[in-house]
Amino acid sequence: MDNCIFCKIVNGEIPSSKVYEDDKILAFKDLNPMAPVHILFIPKEHICCADKIDETNSSVVAHIFEVIPKVAKELGLEDGYRVVTNCKEQAGQTVFHLHFHLLGGAVLNTTLA
Ligand code: AMP
Ligand code: ZN
Repeated sequence: MDNCIFCKIVNGEIPSSKVYEDDKILAFKDLNPMAPVHILFIPKEHICCADKIDETNSSVVAHIFEVIPKVAKELGLEDGYRVVTNCKEQAGQTVFHLHFHLLGGAVLNTTLA
């Protein structure tokens, strides 16, 4: 999708610090980390947000959730981690290409909002 930062990361127009890649998904370090470990998992196909997950595209979401434990283990997150997605402006979404934040490496604040 034109003018989507994460599509540009997928096609190599914008550099990223990759930690995992396969034919369907990409994971890279967040530019502005909110925890010692802060990785973003994205589908390579453009899906704007969690609200647009449906039966036609949910397999890539399942795949992301299969890969997250493997990457978490590689990054030493045995003590725990958080996976978050912000859906639309009111929830704080700033990049409108579906992504899941993997946060860990410290005791995380447990307030939900
Ligand atoms: P959200 O606010 O949930 O939409 O999260 C967007 C995240 O993308 C933020 O945590 C940003 O720091 C991160 N971000 C924005 N641009 C880049 C980029 N070029 N490379 C890595 N992370 C980015
Ligand atoms: Zn995109």
